[in-house]
Amino acid sequence: MLDLVVAGAGPAGLELAFRCQNKMNVAVVEEHKRIGEPNHCSGLVSRNIDGIAKPPRDCVEHRVRGALLHSPGGHTIELKKRGFAAYVIDRQSFDNSLAERLNCRLLMGSKLERVAFGGGSVSLTAGRKNIECCVIAGADGANSFVAKSLGVGPKEKIPGIIAIARESNASEFVELFFDKRLTDCFLWKIPRGETTEYGMWGSGSRFDVLEKFFKIKNKKYARRSGVIPLGPPKTYFNRAILVGDAAGQCKPWTGGGVVYGMTCARIAADVLTKADGFSEQSLRGYEVRWKRAIGKQIGAGMFARCLLARLSNRQLDAFMATARWLRLLNRLDMDFLVKK
Ligand SMILES: Cc1cc2nc3c(=O)[nH]c(=O)nc-3n(C[C@H](O)[C@H](O)[C@H](O)COP(=O)(O)OP(=O)(O)OC[C@H]3O[C@@H](n4cnc5c(N)ncnc54)[C@H](O)[C@@H]3O)c2cc1C
Repeated sequence: MLDLVVAGAGPAGLELAFRCQNKMNVAVVEEHKRIGEPNHCSGLVSRNIDGIAKPPRDCVEHRVRGALLHSPGGHTIELKKRGFAAYVIDRQSFDNSLAERLNCRLLMGSKLERVAFGGGSVSLTAGRKNIECCVIAGADGANSFVAKSLGVGPKEKIPGIIAIARESNASEFVELFFDKRLTDCFLWKIPRGETTEYGMWGSGSRFDVLEKFFKIKNKKYARRSGVIPLGPPKTYFNRAILVGDAAGQCKPWTGGGVVYGMTCARIAADVLTKADGFSEQSLRGYEVRWKRAIGKQIGAGMFARCLLARLSNRQLDAFMATARWLRLLNRLDMDFLVKK
């Protein structure tokens, strides 16, 4: 019998398996045949990632120094750091670099289709194989099968779409565009070095809207789409935990989840490798600890999101016209809105 099965080979699952593999008998089950497929992510990650798993050079497409926030009426707030603030990484290469660190079993093309909790173990079926383990970690993304089996899910799932055009772009700034007539979140333009990414998230995310806004209708571009889970559910259970997008560990103000998911995966690994049994009570410390690390940020982010949802375009203009003079904004960390 295995000690731990990790469902999902995204950044959260791969980090968790890596941190547990030398202390537990671990297997990762992944539904796709290749790591990082399909890619639904912009891969904009702050330099905080260096403290978790520094992206190898060949994963980095570009680096940015800050962001330009455009209000509906044309006011612009410039946020910038002295050095570079964030990487624009190719998620497929990054995920592959995380997978290369594993020496445990990695079962590709193995979709988790059944989980049953009973007696002293968890039994599951993945890719037609029946597997028994002591504890399961659901790192299977925003539409987590493990979370559904446990009867939980995030508060909201927000759609996001991406168009990547073959236009070289070496700008130092990511650009965010707010327009409540188009989306309750925002649209974006990300310089990716050899290409340019156009995207939007929130209700109303549609490729025809994106094409019209950025005038890219006649350009060739690659499409990606996915969902962003906001508002974490309960994340610890008898013989199970949830981590990463499966646990709603995303930033409510941008939808980014790579740094948060990997941060929480580390905490999960520490708790699992030291746990005295895998009862709900002995895994409770995981939720206490990840909430201590990022709970305040998610709470403040959900509040900011509610505020943004209530503002009209005129109110947004007035707010951004004032806020652009606040130099304090430059001190903001991409991952930490409020003091830790
Ligand atoms: C449009 C868009 C843009 C984004 N841009 C950014 C960004 O710029 N920066 C950022 O930090 N975040 C971004 N995100 C969010 C980011 O993609 C996620 O937070 C991150 O991928 C979460 O990692 P994860 O390991 O939890 O889940 P995932 O990366 O989703 O990995 C889950 C894995 O589980 C597998 N899986 C699913 N179901 C099963 C099953 N039943 N059996 C076996 N395997 C299964 C999947 O195939 C997948 O490999 C974006 C999201 C979207 C939708």
